[in-house]
Amino acid sequence: MPLVAIVGRPNVGKSTLFNRLTEARQAIVHDEAGVTRDRIYGDVEWGGRVFDLVDTGGLVPRSAERFEAAIREQVMLTLEEADVILFVVDVETGITDLDQEVAQVLRRAEQPVLVVGNKADNDLRRMEAAELWSLGLGDVFALSAINGSGTGDFLDAVIEALPEQPDVAEDDDAPRIAFIGRPNVGKSSLANLLLGRQRSIVTEIAGTTRDSVDARMEVNGREIVLVDTAGLRKKARVKENVEFYSMLRTERAIQTCDVAVLLIDAERGFEAQDAKVLREAADMKKGLVVVVNKWDLVEKETNTARDFERAAKERGTIDFVPFLYASALTGQRADKVLDLALQVYDERNKRIPTSKLNEVVEAAVRAQYPPSWRGNYVKINFATQVRESPPVFAFFCNYPQGIKESYKRFLENRLRDAFGFEGVPLTLSFKAKS
Ligand code: GDP
Ligand code: GDP
Repeated sequence: MPLVAIVGRPNVGKSTLFNRLTEARQAIVHDEAGVTRDRIYGDVEWGGRVFDLVDTGGLVPRSAERFEAAIREQVMLTLEEADVILFVVDVETGITDLDQEVAQVLRRAEQPVLVVGNKADNDLRRMEAAELWSLGLGDVFALSAINGSGTGDFLDAVIEALPEQPDVAEDDDAPRIAFIGRPNVGKSSLANLLLGRQRSIVTEIAGTTRDSVDARMEVNGREIVLVDTAGLRKKARVKENVEFYSMLRTERAIQTCDVAVLLIDAERGFEAQDAKVLREAADMKKGLVVVVNKWDLVEKETNTARDFERAAKERGTIDFVPFLYASALTGQRADKVLDLALQVYDERNKRIPTSKLNEVVEAAVRAQYPPSWRGNYVKINFATQVRESPPVFAFFCNYPQGIKESYKRFLENRLRDAFGFEGVPLTLSFKAKS
């Protein structure tokens, strides 16, 4: 999804505009902790297109010392990350020095910049907005974020400015693998190590978002695509709020991959943020691998790896996810990372023959019957795998609503015992049929 960013000095109405554009379109709004505003990031749908909107004003704490420098940095970061930039100016006040400064930075933008003359609540102000042409940037749109006038035409123009939807080759079914994790866990070190080892057969291809570059390479004679290696290599120049954009990139990488490889810093251990990202990828039914990187830095006693894994699992790590202990620095087990990711990919593609599946389900039911529901026997008659990649199993039973979470988990564990599916989130769906 393209990213559209709102920039401008404080009090010009960025946050009001953000709310207007997202709320008006019944946006799905994400709450992100650690930012100064409640909502700075949401989806906007208009004219059949969807884009992500970010209010960069929310990324600059109002209390920041060097406040103006922080705004400038935020604009720089936007130049690196956004597909379209919305530069908001207050026509009531007119162009200020800080507006001029921001404009100067924006003149370097490669992406389209739309100038918003905000607070154009009436005809007079709308006319006054014409002075914004003097900024020497893109088209000027006079609107009122407060009363909504002018926003429809403006949204049409935003849609117009969005990059063409990249057509990802439909017939390209090479496994897509994404390295994800917090900044500094070693994602780019690992990617560079793996890509460097076979430089000659790596091809870079345009990714699914602006600026993202995927790398096509070979592992054990199989083609794979490493998702968004440009993002991995990119070192943000600005420290502040790197987390925000890295989270955005992570979300996008997960969306477009088959297998997400989550890197953890062995010294820092498994953190709450890691659990959250892993859960997100699991909810999207992606294949999962955890790589504990920087393993060279950990004092190894006999059971270090096992202890690490146990501690991580106590912190809510999904228990069917394989762990691998590696070092991008020394290269220890680095070559195993993609092997394991491919193994998970294959598991996710697996189809279980219906007869084998029913043998296992019948044995499971005999070992432990489903608890009765409202005085009725609950009977599972038949199961079948209705799709793979990701795998979905349908269970036909007399009272699907009577199957409890705990019994679903029991069945899932039995399927895993019998068929593996290591690193693969399974979907069990219960349907009525007696
Ligand atoms: P930000 O700091 O750029 O995010 O600005 P805000 O969205 O917080 O708005 C700053 C002030 O301008 C608030 O008091 C808003 O109510 C006001 N404001 C925002 N948009 C409009 C508008 O279209 N017309 C008028 N008259 N006031 C506006
Ligand atoms: P990214 O932000 O996740 O891409 O992390 P980088 O690849 O830029 O690595 C961050 C820092 O950790 C760099 O200074 C790397 O040299 C260092 N690093 C990465 N992998 C390892 C590792 O396996 N062992 C050690 N000791 N350092 C590492």
